Amino acid sequence: MKQILSFIALSLACITTQAQTITSPDGKIKVDLSTAENGQPMYCVTYDGTKIIENSPLGLNTSIGDFTQGLKVKAESETKSVNGAYDMKNGKASHFTFNANEKTITYAKEDKEAFDVTFHIDNNNIAFRYKMYPQRDRLSCMVKNESTTFTMPEGTTTFLCPAMGPQGGFARTAPSYETFYEYDAEMGKNGHGRGFTFPALFKLQSSKSSKQKNANIWVMLCETGVDGTYCGSRLECKGNKYIVAYPEDAEFGGVGTSAPGIMLPGFTPWRTITVGSSLKPMAETSIMWDLVSPKYEASQNYKYGRSVWSWIIRMDASCNYDEQKEYIDFAAELGWEYILIDALWDTNIGYERMAELVKYAASKNVGVFLWYNSNGYWNDAPQGPRGKMHSLIERRKEMAWLKKTGVKGLKIDFVGSDKQQTMQMYEDILADANEYGLEIIFHGCTLPRGWERMYPNFVASEAVRASENLSFGQHDNDIEALAATIHPVLRNAVANMDFGGSALNKFYNKGNNRGRKRITSDVYALATAILFQTPVQNFALAPNNLTDAPAWAIDFMKAVPTSWQDVKFIDGYPGKYVVLARKSVDGKWYVAGVNATKEPLKLNIAIPMFEAGQQVKLYLNNNVSNAKVNKKRTIDVVIPSNGGVVIM
Ligand code: CA
Repeated sequence: MKQILSFIALSLACITTQAQTITSPDGKIKVDLSTAENGQPMYCVTYDGTKIIENSPLGLNTSIGDFTQGLKVKAESETKSVNGAYDMKNGKASHFTFNANEKTITYAKEDKEAFDVTFHIDNNNIAFRYKMYPQRDRLSCMVKNESTTFTMPEGTTTFLCPAMGPQGGFARTAPSYETFYEYDAEMGKNGHGRGFTFPALFKLQSSKSSKQKNANIWVMLCETGVDGTYCGSRLECKGNKYIVAYPEDAEFGGVGTSAPGIMLPGFTPWRTITVGSSLKPMAETSIMWDLVSPKYEASQNYKYGRSVWSWIIRMDASCNYDEQKEYIDFAAELGWEYILIDALWDTNIGYERMAELVKYAASKNVGVFLWYNSNGYWNDAPQGPRGKMHSLIERRKEMAWLKKTGVKGLKIDFVGSDKQQTMQMYEDILADANEYGLEIIFHGCTLPRGWERMYPNFVASEAVRASENLSFGQHDNDIEALAATIHPVLRNAVANMDFGGSALNKFYNKGNNRGRKRITSDVYALATAILFQTPVQNFALAPNNLTDAPAWAIDFMKAVPTSWQDVKFIDGYPGKYVVLARKSVDGKWYVAGVNATKEPLKLNIAIPMFEAGQQVKLYLNNNVSNAKVNKKRTIDVVIPSNGGVVIM
């Protein structure tokens, strides 16, 4: 009997000397903390009885002490319940609430506080961060590395995006989160040798699998609250261990350390684990914003909307006065709010004529976003304007001109580093831009980690293999639908995504007659306008689409919203298909899905947001029709390969 009991105790509670346990409000998530024999703090996580993170180390090695071992628990707080509610105008939903349990454990080395780890656990998300303490007279430190690890159970498969090497890619502009995802891959590979970027998705087998049909457990890892006080991290893989790693030394032109420095007492970013028996908790999570707060007030009531963007179809050559004027007229014709004028405007149009163009756009009720090269010393990209965004003095001079001219926002490209110094520059650009009433889109850049809430004038970042690659190469077109099945539950679930898609051209060129060929359907273009979310959408429509695209597609795009009240996951499997619903700020539900498999996909889509008997518009098979919602509030569809569906 005694033997049986000790076996149960061991298997339930990972490894234990002095154990602490924290659970979610519903009790399904359980985090067990323990201390290994060498004094290394460890944690493990179970979800609904299944181990989702095996016993894994915590701790940091710093310039003022090695806090990865020789530690003891000095204190633990009571578990307290924390609740919150907040609004956001620029995110995937307009109102968020959370209800979580929080507990802090203080670890000491030689009886002196080394760090706290605080766990914040709601019913589908676990977040934790470290608080570092001063040591003797040291009021700041550099964190050399972290032991923080996510050890995944054997048999887990992965959906990960390999990290790019520093100073690679176009003109030394990488890393920029632009590699291909791998779907359902085995563990053990370390990406392209440099690990993987956040967010990271894993599929586990539920220990209840013999009893239940739907026996997968999904786990997403990410981090939030990264600003100028830390670097962005990635995950190095060793076997089934995913270890928090810092940027590489060569990033950002080799300038700035890869290790972050912090003022003491001080905090690391929150690392997050989202878990559920479907992808619903990923698509709907708010953990990225629950744990951060606005770092400054919005200087004005920022407006969002749809934007035309000539570059994606017509490339650099289109960045001239006449074609941009043509696109302004096109935006006005569509009733859209913005135009994005891309690289080289400074030389091809010039500052004086740009001022005229902005005035002309304003007369048509079209706001202007202008492209900038981020650079100082960290890239060789020749496109201008260059040397305007990296220094405070130059930047503020430029922004004063932009404000006077009436420009509404900027797209700042080619940043390419996750170092703390780079994070500080992102923050400085955002803060300055807010003073001049400018919204900000970043391209060739890092993943935003909580930025929608932290910086109210932040619109979106690329940080994804985006539409430009559809223009650059055929392979991206051939697998276009694949990526659309993962972004809504992964990359775009944690942050606004400037993808620049929904082309209605058959070909990515001005004449719509040669070059890279789109193999997705027109309904697919409509569906991704819903599936991909950012409050200012730089859509890939072209003026010729007014006459060469189906009228129902143009009518849909004229009315498509970009600001949302709510998001609901309906169905999907990354790499195969996805169906998601979004509710616009004026209360209309849009259900959108795409099929990336080689065969037509038969689905019975649950649409509880519509009433039984209600008439809905159904976009399918390159057509629009009316359909009636049945008593079960479902709808049967067959989505073509590389096609889509929209129900509204
Ligand atoms: Ca890019």
